[in-house]
Formats: sequence, structure tokens, C-alpha cells
Amino acid sequence: MANSKTRTGAGENTGPIAPGACIGILGGGQLGRMTAIAAAEMGYRCLVLEPQEDCPASHVADHIAGAYEDETVLARFAEACDVVTLEFENVPVAALEFLEQRVPVRPGSKALKIAQDRILEKQFLNDAGIGTAPWAEVTDEKTLAEAIDRIGLPSVLKTARFGYDGKGQAMLKPVTDPLKAWKELGGVRCILEGFVDFDCEVSVITARSASGAVRAFPVVMNEHSNHILYKTHAPADLPAATAKAAEEIADRAIEALDLTGLLAVEMFACRDGSVLVNEVAPRPHNSGHWSIDACMTSQFQQLVRAVCGLPLGSTEILRPSEMTNLLGDEIDDWEAILAEPSAHLHLYGKAEAKPGRKMGHVTRLK
Ligand code: AMP
Repeated sequence: MANSKTRTGAGENTGPIAPGACIGILGGGQLGRMTAIAAAEMGYRCLVLEPQEDCPASHVADHIAGAYEDETVLARFAEACDVVTLEFENVPVAALEFLEQRVPVRPGSKALKIAQDRILEKQFLNDAGIGTAPWAEVTDEKTLAEAIDRIGLPSVLKTARFGYDGKGQAMLKPVTDPLKAWKELGGVRCILEGFVDFDCEVSVITARSASGAVRAFPVVMNEHSNHILYKTHAPADLPAATAKAAEEIADRAIEALDLTGLLAVEMFACRDGSVLVNEVAPRPHNSGHWSIDACMTSQFQQLVRAVCGLPLGSTEILRPSEMTNLLGDEIDDWEAILAEPSAHLHLYGKAEAKPGRKMGHVTRLK
């Protein structure tokens, strides 16, 4: 049933890629694993490119253990795939640009480039009329002082690139030595963001298919612990106007990025009813894992539908639910969780339970 392989690159072929085709996934963590499981259910094969041997996705899909920088590997990967997507946003943009010459890449390099850099991201969002915390670029001691003058304290200093789960960021308070904090972040290009005194953190995952159709999942509420997502409540308990605003922001962002695939938009719901975007990720997201067990269509199925140009699935919630990440040795509770009648346990097949490492999650239906 698979289409004959296109050579036209991303964006040009918007016809459906039929079941039987091979979806390439850049990155082999749990997001790739769950994408490959959904793809298999829908009749697709997956090929994962990820440098790490024995990565979570390699247990459920074909795997090339190669470097994203290796053009021989990339050419082999492109040759084997009908469409390429990603589960990890620190894939080098050059790898996507190389692949785009050979196979449709969804999302493409343009969206990835923006999502990889907090400054490009905030500028892009603001240009699209989407609100964020006030921010300023920091490149040296002078711009650090200017940024603090403009943004004020408390504020959050973050490395412009390669930060995740609170890594690469420091809170600046009146007592903090800002220069020391910046140097501890490596003295690299940073963004200073005003501290948002939010009511709660929410997120929306939205999908855009190769045909241009857009559909958002309902907004969810997220609780963090040590900057790592701990719990997601689906749906979020928010005033209807706030929920609508959050969903509209996500749809506006994915349209503005002209992105085919998924976009996860993390937002702050503020006490005054406004909604500000913290960051966006052009891939499946931890705050969408509940959708596997409690929604008509899971975020992973939706990604497959979007990148293959299939009709997007319904995002209707079947049951309210609560997703809890299992970090480090919390995975040891697997047996007790399995004994709970309304819990769905998902384990990622990681060999070593390091503290804070995402080992699995549990979705409890309410
Ligand atoms: P991030 O890595 O940008 O997702 O930040 C991790 C977490 O730090 C967020 O989920 C928030 O809890 C907190 N945080 C990040 N930026 C801000 C901000 N500008 N104001 C308040 N809290 C923030």
C-alpha cells in the first residue's frame, strides 16, 4: 500500500502517505518509542536514527545507531524512509536541511531552528502577536546589566540554547550576584525573562496535517517538581475563556510556524486571566501522554496522521485523567500500580533508573 517514494523534499507532496510506508524518527527516547508503537498500530513501519545503542525506541522499531552529523548515515536513513519526523529538538538543523533535499521532513528545519533558540522563539511568538514574559538578550556583562535594568528582578536567566527540564537556568533575585549566575551558566548567550507570577502552568498540543488542517487537544494543567513535569491533569480546571485563549494561542503558533506535525505549547495562566507562552516544542510532549489512554486519538497517533497527510483524529476526551511521571526509582512501584483498577502503566524500557530520569508514566482515569 505504500506510496512510491517521493524525491521532492518537504512541503511539496501533500498527498497521503499510505499505511505500509516507513516513518523515520530522529531521536530514540520514550517519545520516539510511543510514536513507533502508535505507527505500528496504524500499519506503518518506523526507522529510528539515534546515536545511543539500546535506546527506548530501538526496542519497538528498526534503529540506526549513527550520528546526526554523519551524511552517509543520513543518506541511508533518508533512502529508507517515506517521511521523517522528530522526537527530540536538539537534532542539528543541518541534519534536517540535508534530509529535506531527499525526503519530506515534518516538521521541517525552519520550525526546528526557531524552537531550538529561546530568543528566536520569543521574537517569533511576539511577532505573531502572542504574549510572553518580557525578555531581553544577554551576550556579555553590559547587556546583562541593561537587561536587568529593563526587565527588573526577580527574573529568570536561561541559556538561549540546549536548556531543558530547568537545566541551564537561574533565578535572579535582588540578593543574587547576576554576573556570577551568568558565568555559572557558562557565560553563553542567554535570555533574561521577567518572573511570571502565574496562577498555574498549562499546555496545549496542537496538530497540523500536511493538508493544512489544524486541531488542538484540550488544554491541560501541569505540575512541576524540581523543574521536571510531575503531573498533568486533563482537562485543566480553568475558566472557559482562559481555556479558549490557550487553545487559540496554540493554533495561531502552529499556523505561524507553518509546521506540519505536532506543536506543544507550554503556557502560564496568569491571575489576571491572561495567558503567556513559556516555550514551544515541535514534537510530542510529556504533557500529552494522558491522551494514549483517555482521548479518542493519542498525540502519537495524531502525529502519524499529521505527517502522513491523513485526516486528523478527534481530540475528544473520553475520561478525565491524571498522568504522573515515574522518575528514577519511582518505577519500583510498578507492581502496585498494575494492581490499581483504573491505572494504565507505561514503562520506557530504560535499563538504569537514575534520579530524576523519566522511566515511565501512569495515567489514572477518574
Ligand atoms: P522551562 O525550561 O523554560 O520550561 O522552565 C522550567 C520551569 O521553570 C517552568 O515550567 C516554570 O515552572 C519555571 N519558569 C520558567 N520561566 C519562568 C518565568 N519567566 N517565570 C516564572 N517561572 C518560570
